[in-house]
Amino acid sequence: VRMRQAQRKMKGVKLQYTDSDRVTFDDVAGVPGAKVELMEVVDFFLKPQKFRRSGARIPRGVLLCGPPGTGKTLLARAVAGEAGVAFLSLNASEFVEMFVGVGASRVRDLFAQARALAPAIIFVDEIDAVGRIRGGAQGNDERDQTLNQLLSEMDGFSNTSQVIVMAASNRKDVLDPALIRPGRFDRIIHVGAPDFEGRIEVLKVHLGKRLANGERRQYDLTEEEFHDLSFQFQRFSGAMLANLVNSAVIMAGQDGRTVIRYHDLTRALEEERLGPRRQPYSGERQKRLAVQEAATALVCTLMPAIEPVSMVTIVPREKYPLGQTVLKVNEQRERTHMFSRRYLEEQLMTVLAGRAGEEIIYGGDEVSTINQRRLVMARRIVSKLVVSGAMTDIAEVGPRTISAPVRQGSRGLKQIITSRMSYDTLHAVDVEMGRLLNDTYGEVKAMLERNMEAYNALIQSLTTGDDQTLSGEQVRELVEQHACKEDLDR
Ligand code: ADP
Repeated sequence: VRMRQAQRKMKGVKLQYTDSDRVTFDDVAGVPGAKVELMEVVDFFLKPQKFRRSGARIPRGVLLCGPPGTGKTLLARAVAGEAGVAFLSLNASEFVEMFVGVGASRVRDLFAQARALAPAIIFVDEIDAVGRIRGGAQGNDERDQTLNQLLSEMDGFSNTSQVIVMAASNRKDVLDPALIRPGRFDRIIHVGAPDFEGRIEVLKVHLGKRLANGERRQYDLTEEEFHDLSFQFQRFSGAMLANLVNSAVIMAGQDGRTVIRYHDLTRALEEERLGPRRQPYSGERQKRLAVQEAATALVCTLMPAIEPVSMVTIVPREKYPLGQTVLKVNEQRERTHMFSRRYLEEQLMTVLAGRAGEEIIYGGDEVSTINQRRLVMARRIVSKLVVSGAMTDIAEVGPRTISAPVRQGSRGLKQIITSRMSYDTLHAVDVEMGRLLNDTYGEVKAMLERNMEAYNALIQSLTTGDDQTLSGEQVRELVEQHACKEDLDR
C-alpha cells in the first residue's frame, strides 16, 4: 500500500512490487561473471549486518557497461528481485530535452522516494545521456544540473542507508570521471553478448518462459539442434535472441502448434537475416534469379574453404530482392576477420559464379545488371588480395601492402598510398587486379561448364519446387549426385 501510494505521487517512476513480474537471476543467462559480482549487492541487502561487521565497503553505485540488449536492465531488476527490495527506474535520456530544473527535481524526488521505500534499488538507464563529461562547448545546463543532483544525492548516502544506485551505459568512455569516483559508481561491471554456451542458455530461458497462465512454454529441441542454432546465431545479444524466440513462437502458432521446434527458430533467423518475403517472381524473371543462385550455390559447395551452404532461395526478400545464397556462419572467421589467400581466392570464385552462369545460359550479349552487387564484392576481394593484403605474386610489389586504412571505423575504406610508389608499380598493381579477375572468371566459367548436369539440376529444383528455396542439405545432395569427380575431390 505504501508503495502504491508513493507510486501515485510519483508519476513516471516504475516500481516493482508484484510477484508475478518479479525477475530473478534465473531469467538472465549467458552473463555468469556479472551475476557473480551482483550477488554481492544482493548479499548487502539480505545480510547488511554481516557487511557492516566485516568492514567491507558498502556498495553505493554500480555501473553496468555493455552494448544494448545484453541484459543490463534485466540484471538490475533481477538484483531487486533476488533481494526482494523496491525497484525504481528512470531513463536519463528523457531529461536532456527538458526544461532546466526538471531533471534535477525528478532526481531529488526519486531519491526521496527510494529512501522512503528503502531497502531499494534506483536504476538509471542510459546514464551517459546526463553523465557525459561536463562543460565545454557542448555544455548543456539541464544535463549538468541533473548530473550534479544525482552526484550530490549519492554523496549524501549514510552508512546505514539501504539504497543502491545502479546505472547502465553502453559508453563508458564518455562518462564524466566524477561519476566513477570512489563512493559513487565505483563498481563497474561489464556485460557483454553471450558466448557459444551462453546463447544456448539464453535460448532455453526464453523458450521455457512462464506464460500468463503460469505454465511454462514447451519446446522440443535436441542438444545438437541447440548447438547448431548457437552456431548460426553468433554475435547475437540476449535481446536479439529473445526476439528470435518470439518470432519462432509466432511461426509455430501459424502452424497451429504451441510446442516450439528447431525449424521455427531457423525460419525466424532466416526472416531476420533476409527480411520478410515479397511476392515471388514467375517466368523468365524467376529463371534469371535461379540461374544466378544455382551457380553461386554450386560453386560455394565445390569450394573446400568456403563455409557450407545453409540455404539458397529465389524468393525475393526485403533485404535481398534478387534472391540469395546463405552460407553457414563461421564463428571464428567472423570474430577474427582473418582471411587466408586461399579463402579469398575461393570467395572470388563464388561471387563471380552468377555472372559466369548467366553468360553460359543466356550468352554474352544477354548478361544483365542482376549481379552488380556481387561484382562490387568481387572488386573488393581483388583489392583485398592485391592492394591491402599484399598476397600477390607480382615482382614489383612483393609482400608490400600498398594501402593504409583511412581511419578506424571507416568500414574498411582503404586509401592507396601513391606518394611512395612509382607509376610503374601502380600500373603493375592495376594490371594484376585485372588479371586476377579475368583468370578467376575463366576458371569459374570452366567449372560450371564441367558441371552442367549439377548446375541444371539446381536451376530446375529452384524453379519447380513449391518453396523456390533449397536447404543446404538439398543442395549438397544434388551436387554430390551430379557434379564431376574432379571437382568433388578438391
Ligand atoms: P539492456 O538494458 O542491456 O539494453 P535489456 O535488459 O533491456 O538490455 O534486454 C532486453 C530484453 O532482452 C530483456 O528483457 C530480455 O528479454 C532479453 N535479454 C537481454 N539479455 C538477456 C540475457 N542475458 N538473458 C536473458 N534474456 C536477455
